[in-house]
Amino acid sequence: MNLKGKKIVVIGMGKTGLATVRFLGTRGAKVIATDEKPPEKWETVFEQIAEGNWLTRGVYNAGILDGVSMVVPSPGVPPSNEILQAAVRNNIPVISEVELAYHFLKVPILAVTGTNGKTTTTTLLGEILTREGKKVFVGGNIGNPLIEFAGNNQAADFVVAEISSFQLQWIEKFRPFVAVLLNITCDHVNYHGSFAEYRRIKARVFENQTKSDYAILNAEDPEQKSMAASIRAQVAAFSSRNQLPTGIFIKDGNIVFRNHAFGEERYPLSMIKIPGLHNVENVMAAVMTACFCGCSRESIIDTISQFSGLPHRIEFVGEKKSVRYYDDSKGTNVGSVIRALDTFSAPVILLLGGRDKDGDFQNLKPLLAAKAKQVILFGEARDRIGSLIGESVPAVKEPTLQAAIESAYKSAHTGDVVLLSPGCASFDEFNNYKERGIFFKNVVRNL
Ligand code: ADP
Repeated sequence: MNLKGKKIVVIGMGKTGLATVRFLGTRGAKVIATDEKPPEKWETVFEQIAEGNWLTRGVYNAGILDGVSMVVPSPGVPPSNEILQAAVRNNIPVISEVELAYHFLKVPILAVTGTNGKTTTTTLLGEILTREGKKVFVGGNIGNPLIEFAGNNQAADFVVAEISSFQLQWIEKFRPFVAVLLNITCDHVNYHGSFAEYRRIKARVFENQTKSDYAILNAEDPEQKSMAASIRAQVAAFSSRNQLPTGIFIKDGNIVFRNHAFGEERYPLSMIKIPGLHNVENVMAAVMTACFCGCSRESIIDTISQFSGLPHRIEFVGEKKSVRYYDDSKGTNVGSVIRALDTFSAPVILLLGGRDKDGDFQNLKPLLAAKAKQVILFGEARDRIGSLIGESVPAVKEPTLQAAIESAYKSAHTGDVVLLSPGCASFDEFNNYKERGIFFKNVVRNL
């Protein structure tokens, strides 16, 4: 892709947008940067890279598109955005930062997508490959954007990329060597417009693969059943519930990987230290990907045995008066709340709430009835969630997370679990899920 002299609009001046601007500048493009926030909010960062006359600050409306040959939106910019809509209407190519990066990458990409489990699986996979002695760049939706790696000397054997639906929305040729689709449950409907559209976008991760690539699917995910037929890559499935003729599954206390080309290999389930069947699924996807990249059984087992998980994903915080507290602040949709509840056998007091993303909370009802002794609804979404879960479980409402924790503390008895798995975004009270999780941990520790 020749960018020299091309007029390119970058929308969104966050980490990804700024890295894109820098990259385009080094390739001789004429960049117009814009953001919905007023320039005072992003000018200082912008000025660090504003050298020469290749970069200008653009207005935030479709008028910016005059004479432009490409638009690169940041992941947070929804497809309904006025500038993007105008670009599409006027046949101006719109591509995401990962698509742009792809055109310049010389290293095979291992792409991990899905509604939940991306960060855990991507991180674990990066660690296995590193243990095997491979050089990796781990990034994308976590850490550093791919475009940053594309702009440096690319000293790596593999790019391990966490890829979100926002990034897949605007791909054209993006083609991973291994593409993992962990699961698809309802999320980001307010961004994509509908669940059907969200599912369609997720499946795009396989769109440009060929038969020398691998597509890793979840055999138990009803949303993925129809996808396999249209995939050109070699399909490999994982299942945590049923044995499969080929692929990866559980049998007699082992994870069994069975493949025509790779034979059969067993890995003890006891190597997995992170909680829940959902994490077994993440591990299975990482194991298969690692095998396709030539990793040994030893590297795989060693790494998984030492992997203790990431903060804010069903993280054990501590015990107070024989009640255990867990921080699952990253559980920002109903799918992840279901898997978190599934993890516990003790009675759970669940803290649910925050900023709603049109979540399908009615789907929690059976599991709430089976697992939860009480639900504490907090924050902006408390009334909507309350009406969707109905009478399935005793529920109380609190305005804030602080009040919800205190309420849980008062109701909890010996042997209970208090779980923050909010099923919502955090932005009504916090800047992000990390701040919410840290706040939860601090309040719990001071109870
Ligand atoms: P992502 O990057 O996709 O958001 P994370 O690994 O950060 O995924 O986990 C986000 C949330 O989803 C956490 O609450 C975690 O416990 C839960 N989770 C992790 N893996 C899975 C999975 N395979 N299926 C469902 N939920 C999962």
